[in-house]
Amino acid sequence: MSDRKVLFKYCPMCRHRLKWVRVSGNRRLKCLKCGWVHYQNPLPAVVCLAENKKGQILIVKRGVMPHKGRWALPGGFIELQETPEQACLRELKEETGAEGKIIKTIGDYIQDSKTYGPILVIGYEVKLSRERLVPGDDAKEVRFVAKEELPNIPFSSHRRIIADGYSNRSNRKVK
Ligand SMILES: [Zn+2]
Repeated sequence: MSDRKVLFKYCPMCRHRLKWVRVSGNRRLKCLKCGWVHYQNPLPAVVCLAENKKGQILIVKRGVMPHKGRWALPGGFIELQETPEQACLRELKEETGAEGKIIKTIGDYIQDSKTYGPILVIGYEVKLSRERLVPGDDAKEVRFVAKEELPNIPFSSHRRIIADGYSNRSNRKVK
């Protein structure tokens, strides 16, 4: 397990210096004056596995770090005011212009990130209602590609979402 970067030296509530102490079984930075604890948890994110009518997978060429310029599934972080499902459909629309509805949860995965620490990734199968693609600000290019022609995807969680997404629908024809 990777340790996250230390973000605070002083308490953001009362400015007292923070100390490393054990809280609920883990070493955490705590303010011994006001009791504030710097909890660090995996950051929740969502990823979308969607196909067009030909059975090709929707992928995005990333326009932002990490792995800028590499292909990945559409996805991103969950905002405070939304559910994971809403985040998935929002990211889908923002990054690719496509729209759809959630069919099911494929699984959840931990992906390590140098920048953000461990990320909790929830993968969804999405059925598209609108396949016309318009790359968003975060994307250099968007396209549908046959499963056999998928480029190498740098995120292990995305590769597992594709593998698990297809292994869970063995009764379905995949072209
Ligand atoms: Zn404090």
